[in-house]
Amino acid sequence: MTKMRLAIVGAGPAGIYAADLLIKAERDFDVEIDLFEQLPAPYGLVRYGVSPDHPRIKGIVTALREVLDRARPDTGDADTAADGEGVPSGTVRYFGNVRYGEDITLEDLKRHYHAVIFSTGAIRDASLSIPGIEAEGSYGAADFVSWFDGHPDVPRTWPLEAAEVAVIGNGNVALDVSRMLIKHADDLLPTEIPANVYEGLAANPITDLHLFGRRGPAYVKFTPLELRELGEVRDVDMVIDERDFEFDDPYATEVLGKNKQVLVMTRVINQWREAQKERAASGEHASRRLHMHFWSKPVAVVTENGRVSGLKIERTAPDGQGGILDTGEFEVIPVQSLYRAIGYFGSPLEEIPFDDERGVIPNAQGRVLGADGEPVPGVYATGWIKRGPVGLIGHTKSDAMETIECLLEDRESWWQPVEPSPEAIPALLESRSVPYTTIEGWQRLDEHEVSLGEAEGRARIKVVPREEMTRVSRGE
Ligand code: NAP
Repeated sequence: MTKMRLAIVGAGPAGIYAADLLIKAERDFDVEIDLFEQLPAPYGLVRYGVSPDHPRIKGIVTALREVLDRARPDTGDADTAADGEGVPSGTVRYFGNVRYGEDITLEDLKRHYHAVIFSTGAIRDASLSIPGIEAEGSYGAADFVSWFDGHPDVPRTWPLEAAEVAVIGNGNVALDVSRMLIKHADDLLPTEIPANVYEGLAANPITDLHLFGRRGPAYVKFTPLELRELGEVRDVDMVIDERDFEFDDPYATEVLGKNKQVLVMTRVINQWREAQKERAASGEHASRRLHMHFWSKPVAVVTENGRVSGLKIERTAPDGQGGILDTGEFEVIPVQSLYRAIGYFGSPLEEIPFDDERGVIPNAQGRVLGADGEPVPGVYATGWIKRGPVGLIGHTKSDAMETIECLLEDRESWWQPVEPSPEAIPALLESRSVPYTTIEGWQRLDEHEVSLGEAEGRARIKVVPREEMTRVSRGE
């Protein structure tokens, strides 16, 4: 074999890192990689998950784009495996707006490729089974993130009607959602938020946001930079409940207290406690408040006429081993809407094994496992759909490395494609009238969004509707 053809399904960081690593891997054969993405634009969670007010993280796009540009088959610079002549080549093509399971099937992939890697991530919200969670005004954080990040497949309007709002969870998504809800919309104008998001946020009547963690301040899953940022939001007072610091919790001090990140975050929260005392003395207050509630486990959403009217929590206490004890003490905090930010969850893919409990594709180091627990030949996974929705974007790289190593070891068990010609793929998509987008098309859309931004003195304004994204990309 002199050439390997690989399909990657999902063009977020996980899929693009996997492509890059295979291109750079030591090998004695050429590789042709086709990246399929269900959205017209690439970059997955970087474009549709990272908050618009985090341009530094959004900047990861530059590195991802370099991978796609460098390995384009038409650039004449496809020999990227190493320096020198006669080096096996590696190319990547991008096919956007192509849905796996509908526009292209597993059977198609077997006809045209030697293997497939699924890197479809996790975009749904994990469920929280407490009474009332389905009430009007109760939302999943992932859906709200999709809205403010201009995802083409969610409604364009978001009901921001509540003065008091609850956010459940102590992870970075809870911080993103809280920041976007409590910030004044004008402070988000310099970002790439679409016009409908700005208008929605500008009409947000919020005064009080209540952020709930079922464990204590030393157990949060935030990262220090993001936590500090929350306290820097203009015209918002951080409100801390002194009861949350009354426990004698040796696990927090002796085990977690040794962790540098925990120490930094404890310091940040302690600064907020001090600031609160100073505010009380000065009498100077902001127009919005963010209340941190630790040791508060959500037990029910209180409703009135089918709408959220409060969150019932049970006070918890440390169990001495990092877990919690229920105290039997309940409280209701009045809120008119609620967001659960308790983790993402993957979605099953046609004809691919799926673990319904964890929301991932069952696998061993990236080799997808069948019902018998044995690897399914030619099928691999990487990123959040492989290991679950934890970790920062950079962690996806080591994950992809593991999957690529397995892929390269398994050469003997790859599929034997009967139609390995690269031209067969665009022909197949055209025969099915799939309006697919290409990397050149993304370039067009990218330039278009930047020019929309320029007209208003902003870096970019995102195009939201799928048809418009596709039309601009395809130059129609
Ligand atoms: P996460 O970090 O796993 O946090 C989930 C939070 O939900 C935890 O505080 C968890 O509490 C809580 N939780 C889970 N089940 C619960 C329940 N039944 N009741 C109450 N609370 C519950 O997840 P995430 O916030 O979705 O973030 C996913 C990953 O993306 C993380 O690695 C995160 O760092 C990353 N991310 C990073 C950024 C950034 O860098 N700016 C932004 C967004 C996301 P326990 O700890 O008690 O389980």
